[in-house]
Amino acid sequence: MDLLSDLHVRYEVDVPLAGLTWYGVGGKAGVVAHPSSVQQLSALASRCHEAGVRVYVLGSGANLLVSDEGVPVEKGIVIKLDEAFFKRVDFGDGEPVGGVGAKPQAGEDPEGLGKRSEGGGGGGNVGGGVMVGAGFDLMKLVLETAKRGLEGLQHMAGIPASVGGAVRMNAGGAFGEIGTAVKRVQVMDDRGHVYYRDRDDLVFSYRHTNIVARYILSVEFELYPDDADALMKRVREVFMYKKNSQPMGENSAGCAFKNPGQSMTTVKGAEAGGAERTDDREEEGDGEDDDGRAGASGAMPAGKLIDEAGLKGYRVGGAEVSKLHANFIYTHPGCKASDVLAVMTHVQETVLAKTGIALEREVVVWP
Ligand SMILES: Cc1cc2nc3c(=O)[nH]c(=O)nc-3n(C[C@H](O)[C@H](O)[C@H](O)COP(=O)(O)OP(=O)(O)OC[C@H]3O[C@@H](n4cnc5c(N)ncnc54)[C@H](O)[C@@H]3O)c2cc1C
Repeated sequence: MDLLSDLHVRYEVDVPLAGLTWYGVGGKAGVVAHPSSVQQLSALASRCHEAGVRVYVLGSGANLLVSDEGVPVEKGIVIKLDEAFFKRVDFGDGEPVGGVGAKPQAGEDPEGLGKRSEGGGGGGNVGGGVMVGAGFDLMKLVLETAKRGLEGLQHMAGIPASVGGAVRMNAGGAFGEIGTAVKRVQVMDDRGHVYYRDRDDLVFSYRHTNIVARYILSVEFELYPDDADALMKRVREVFMYKKNSQPMGENSAGCAFKNPGQSMTTVKGAEAGGAERTDDREEEGDGEDDDGRAGASGAMPAGKLIDEAGLKGYRVGGAEVSKLHANFIYTHPGCKASDVLAVMTHVQETVLAKTGIALEREVVVWP
């Protein structure tokens, strides 16, 4: 492809995207590029920007519905950060904890995952920063940090994602969101410029962050030493909770719709250096979409609305509303993306007609 020919970026053409998403449906991508360094990505990003080519960043495809037409080159190219460089993780073993590190300047360290910022720059932080490339698998990270006795990500057990995709979506569940553990994010804009977003500048809200840069390159988490056995036990508990309340074995993208009226946790930088949770939930497990129960926030779980509209088991072609959790739409073999979209539309129309509430899609649809 002309766009890529002189950039030395590995790329594939005519790639079926179904195999790269959890729904397992959808058409092909004209091009999927796999940059192996920040420099390669930067060159590719700016080239696409100059040429007016749209870029779709693919994580682990767990919140994605690719249409049946796929992403033909006229619509853009897909970039997947799955080369070794973007899957690096640095647990910072042996690093001092609690120190105060210099804040990197914009554009500094464009080749690496970024220097660990030691300490929170304001007291109260006894945590060690864990630097993780955006392409690293979140579930592996949850397990690995627990095994190493690092507290802070156990609530993310059972959520399929790349680290970049999880931060982009502020993924979370009944026990909290990923944003609570994020200390700093390294990003790249469409022109290929690299910079950092620090916690005091980040806002995480319900399935949303204020990161607008196209590419999340790496994430630094603030984790705290704790007993590894207790943390592993916690991981198992959260995982079992999820397994019992959601159709984890089916091809889905998790919750199809957001909870109407849910603002949920807002994690903002706190002057004192620690994460501040302005959270209207009183207790764990309350108020979240993926358990289907109404929460203290007063938000109405989308799953409950869909269930009460009598839509569990509703099916078009190969797409069906789960009987276990009504906010999950899953696909049967032979399903088309258009089947999933038809189910989504029917659900939205029915819930609107019955309740006056417009459900907003949580799942991202390409192109
Ligand atoms: C069985 C199942 C259970 C689930 N349970 C939950 C749950 O409990 N809670 C929850 O929140 N979600 C849940 N989900 C949805 C999904 O796990 C999350 O939305 C997750 O954050 C998606 O991450 P991903 O890497 O797969 O992103 P993708 O689906 O690949 O992409 C999602 C969006 O993120 C963008 N993106 C991905 N990587 C990057 C990057 N490096 N830089 C910039 N943008 C990027 C994409 O462009 C896209 O817009 C579930 C999904 C499944 C299949």
